[in-house]
Amino acid sequence: MHFRRMLLLGLLGPFAACGASADQADVIVYGDYVLTMDEAQPELRGGAVVVRDGVIVDVGPRDRIDAEWQAKSTIAGAGRVLMPGLINGHTHSAMTLFRGMVDDLDLMTWLNQYVFPMEARFVTPEFVRVGAELACWEMIRGGTTTFVDMYFYPDEIAAVVDRCGLRAVVAAPHIDYPSPGFSGWDDSFAAADDFVQRWQGKHPRITPAFAPHAPYTVSAEHLQATVARATELNALVSMHLAEAPAESDYVQEKYATSPVRHAAGLGLYGLPLIAAHMVQLDDEEIALTASSGVGAIHNPTSNMKLGAGISPVTAMLAAGVNVGLGTDGAASNNDLDLWEELRMAALLHKVATSDPTALPAGQALAMATRLGAAAIHKEGEIGQLKVGMQADMIQLDIGQTHHMPLYDMQSHLVYVLDSHDVQTSMVAGKVLMQGRQVLTIDEGALRSKVTDASSRIRAALLTQQEKES
Ligand SMILES: [Zn+2]
Repeated sequence: MHFRRMLLLGLLGPFAACGASADQADVIVYGDYVLTMDEAQPELRGGAVVVRDGVIVDVGPRDRIDAEWQAKSTIAGAGRVLMPGLINGHTHSAMTLFRGMVDDLDLMTWLNQYVFPMEARFVTPEFVRVGAELACWEMIRGGTTTFVDMYFYPDEIAAVVDRCGLRAVVAAPHIDYPSPGFSGWDDSFAAADDFVQRWQGKHPRITPAFAPHAPYTVSAEHLQATVARATELNALVSMHLAEAPAESDYVQEKYATSPVRHAAGLGLYGLPLIAAHMVQLDDEEIALTASSGVGAIHNPTSNMKLGAGISPVTAMLAAGVNVGLGTDGAASNNDLDLWEELRMAALLHKVATSDPTALPAGQALAMATRLGAAAIHKEGEIGQLKVGMQADMIQLDIGQTHHMPLYDMQSHLVYVLDSHDVQTSMVAGKVLMQGRQVLTIDEGALRSKVTDASSRIRAALLTQQEKES
């Protein structure tokens, strides 16, 4: 076919010169069904996506793509759905090592008696390397291609992201209290500032960000310092905001306002802010969030598990807020499975509004893709299969018997599909998983490192529980 085309180009002479290079691609990925999440061209039956230099250069029906393009390699699409990779807008990657450590406790007991002491004792650069790699392995297997992280030792996380091939916003935490590696605000903020400066614009898949933890752990004065530096460095900011009633009570008592008004008043709403949770906010604050372009990340499982409340997601979406989805850390979820979050979100808001038409499947899928990309300030870069976008995509196996019958694809993806159906993962044109085999992480080595780390945590947990009983 290519020979024939070259011959044709020869006959056409200079008029076809621009077409001569356009038909050379790196890889063509096929799908029986292509869900582009592009509002102009949402779905294709029997389609293909063409990738060159890590970027999508064509999307269309298989027949046309085959006629116009030749690629060094192809990925077959029989029995597969091809769609953009999912975006996890809020997590704490290395907390995978605390997965299921303690459950069914209230937020403050969970944090103060278990999470914070265990972090103080165990979180080291090595712990973060192992935990982040476990998180990346799980996310690749589950179809996530981009995540927004907030955890200690962000250089270690960035190194893991670089190696495993995912795309990430790596946010460096800074907090008024002692934290792993730091005595308090001054040194943690200086390190975050240094991290952002070193990584800003340096890596095609890694975006650094500031992460002032939350309004109840970072003072107003210190939040203003973050705003000043993020503005100077043109950097993203990721933080927990308006998560739970305890936070609202704290902010009301200390600053006589609500968390969102507090954050906006300090200048955070003038930045590209990624606000995780956004549960406790009123209509005026929703309108302000929409007009400011602040991204809100909904974490339904974490909010339910910690009893934080129900985020007004349908009202935020109606007001035009860019709402993405997140898993939060594995200690409060207890996995990093965005298919589960999609389903939880679609169901929870039907319960919350007593309206079975609330948050339909297509809207939930948008939150994990196109809208999620906007929420993390990467609109136009990821979240859609569209020419010019990064080649971040996944193939889903819908050929198994449990997928029969299949009438409505978007509803099927939200209410039936789970992470085990993800077959292929590609980020920036590089294949990270094929046939459910993660190609960029040594699973055997990872398993033994996780076993070592978790056996030390288990022993400490047993000692603590013995003391308590
Ligand atoms: Zn969180």
